[in-house]
Amino acid sequence: MFTSEDELTIRKNLNEIRERINNAAVRSGRNPEDILLVAVSKTVGAEAIETVIKEKVLNFGENRVQELVQKYDIFNERCNWHLIGRLQTNKVKYIVDKVTMIHSLDRLGLADEIQKRAQACNRIVDTLIQVNVSGEKTKAGISPEEVHDFVRKVSLYPNIKVKGLMTIAPYTEDPENVRWIFRRLRNISVDIEGENIDNIDMQYLSMGMSHDFEVAIEEGANIVRIGSSIFGERQYT
Ligand SMILES: *Cc1c(COP(=O)(O)O)cnc(C)c1O
Repeated sequence: MFTSEDELTIRKNLNEIRERINNAAVRSGRNPEDILLVAVSKTVGAEAIETVIKEKVLNFGENRVQELVQKYDIFNERCNWHLIGRLQTNKVKYIVDKVTMIHSLDRLGLADEIQKRAQACNRIVDTLIQVNVSGEKTKAGISPEEVHDFVRKVSLYPNIKVKGLMTIAPYTEDPENVRWIFRRLRNISVDIEGENIDNIDMQYLSMGMSHDFEVAIEEGANIVRIGSSIFGERQYT
């Protein structure tokens, strides 16, 4: 059950996160307003999401298609939905007309399907290319060596708009250990921007989660994906 105490906790968490985002932005000479908070609402119920909407956070991240669709049906156009997790090709059709952005474009087969489904509903889908900077075998993403080539290929898909890059850093006690990952992604993005490829825009760097978002912002993140620090530890059922 969602209580008024839960609501207070979420509001307090959110205020703290906003303050930390602002401070990290200012520390690195950036405008806090340029940093988009995506509240990661996977496993989180509608009342908790409603609380955050009331606080004027209007962007939510989900990693499962079915959950995204359910929540989309509840909240509709009141907020924006970001698909941040691994996307199976056969599920693209369920979300192509619902998502604001897909953060996890990581293979050409997926691009083919997004293209096909986006064209069918006459939409251009904003995407980020997921890069596996850390090189961990368990993580999805294009390797840093292959990303230039991949970007050039995706640039030819008329119904896909590449708006930047995304990465997930491994969990570590001390986020300083993963600073290099964020810096590397930023450098890759600057290199790609410099190539001036048609239909490719390196506007966004989606990097940083609850335990490492400040370091990510210092290294240039302008989208941070934060879940547990807002909603509390996830309860998987
Ligand atoms: C769950 C998740 C997050 C948020 O993680 P927290 O540690 O709860 O902030 C961010 N990005 C992706 C891709 C996720 O799956």
